[in-house]
Amino acid sequence: MSVTGDKTEVHDEKVLDWARKLIEKSQSERLVVDEVFNSVRRNEIWRGNECLNLLAPEAPTSPLVRELLSSEVGTRAAEGHIGKLERWFAGTQFIDEIEALCIELLKKAFGVSYADHRLVASMIGNMTVYTTLTEPGDSIMSLTQPFGGHSSNRYDGPAGVRGVRVYDIPIDEKELTVDLDAFERVARDIKPRLVSLGASMTLFPLPVKEISEIVTEWNGKVYFDGAHQLGLIGAGLFQDPLNEGADVITGSAGKTFSGPQSGIILWNDPNLTKPLTDTIFPTLAATHQVNRVAALAVAAAEFIAFGEEYMKQIVSNSKALAKALHERGIPVLGSHKGFTETHQVIADVSEFGGGYHIANKLAEANIIVNKNLISKDRPEDWDKPSGIRIGTTEVTRLGMKESEMDVVAEYISGIIKDEKTIDHIKKKVLGLREEFNKIHYCFE
Ligand SMILES: *Cc1c(COP(=O)(O)O)cnc(C)c1O
Repeated sequence: MSVTGDKTEVHDEKVLDWARKLIEKSQSERLVVDEVFNSVRRNEIWRGNECLNLLAPEAPTSPLVRELLSSEVGTRAAEGHIGKLERWFAGTQFIDEIEALCIELLKKAFGVSYADHRLVASMIGNMTVYTTLTEPGDSIMSLTQPFGGHSSNRYDGPAGVRGVRVYDIPIDEKELTVDLDAFERVARDIKPRLVSLGASMTLFPLPVKEISEIVTEWNGKVYFDGAHQLGLIGAGLFQDPLNEGADVITGSAGKTFSGPQSGIILWNDPNLTKPLTDTIFPTLAATHQVNRVAALAVAAAEFIAFGEEYMKQIVSNSKALAKALHERGIPVLGSHKGFTETHQVIADVSEFGGGYHIANKLAEANIIVNKNLISKDRPEDWDKPSGIRIGTTEVTRLGMKESEMDVVAEYISGIIKDEKTIDHIKKKVLGLREEFNKIHYCFE
């Protein structure tokens, strides 16, 4: 019966209680529907128009992408691969067109031979990789959470579900990258079947080439979990994992790539096509939300047209923001290496009360970031980490440039260092958002 102690729900009881009471006292379900719309509207007004959304995994979608997300095709079932014979259901000829356009646009956007569009989340892409490239009992190596590793590639995610043994990739905390000498020693000993690179906290490229060369000795594979960096990779920035030796890339369509939230998987080796796609269907995807696929196709087309300019500005903005915070006395990771090569800035706010405290204080001033473990933290400190993670994807798509990053840094440091009141900064944020409220880098 119990979840932990006397709690029977994992969710916050008070919030569930609010919902239950509201449903009970409503005269009809129609009024409850109004409440759902009200909550959506409140979020839209606040997060959509009044906040500086600096959460690294978020990106605003274009108007055309949003339009397609509510299209009729989202009610259709189209299990299977593209083509009359390959589908479970009849009547899918126009859906075939949508899906074929999506696949070909994804291939073009990333310059790869193969792509799949049916992953409702990047987590499912990672599950696809573990199901296809490992067997239960195999050893794999992945990055730890304090170095930005994601649960997907640890025991509490798809890797754990597949029943593999997870070993840590040794890291060089100062250089914020893999400790290659230590990796070589450990890997030669373990001989991992698969090495997972890529991280949620991500500042600098990782040594994909060097690691691929090492694990090739025993036919090990490398996959790059590019959930965050996907857009940067597509724009030819950051690094080019498939050409550096990775076998597969997975990524989130809704992070830097700025499409509908879901997953993408990319590869070049024709020998992987059947095993990977046989895992996707019928193992991990059935109805795969064709409205989302249509939106993904348009996001890919917009990415081909505007992605390079957009992604370059994202990285320039995060460099400018990092520098501006550093100049105001906020410790920023990677200062000796130019701060960042991605959409992220990581600040160590341990001397100002820690990541949890600072993220909440910033949110009161309408500045949204997340608390984040950094390499000096232990995984069990997840609820009181030293860092905050700041992402520039959304503010860039709203048209902000380097000069606005200086203004944003002024607001953030004003709150962190208690130099300005929350009300004062909140008013400033509202003013800035009034000036920047249109989505850029997309078709009209
Ligand atoms: C966000 C993230 C994921 C999960 O992606 P979803 O699209 O949310 O399923 C997987 N891996 C890494 C490294 C991530 O940062």
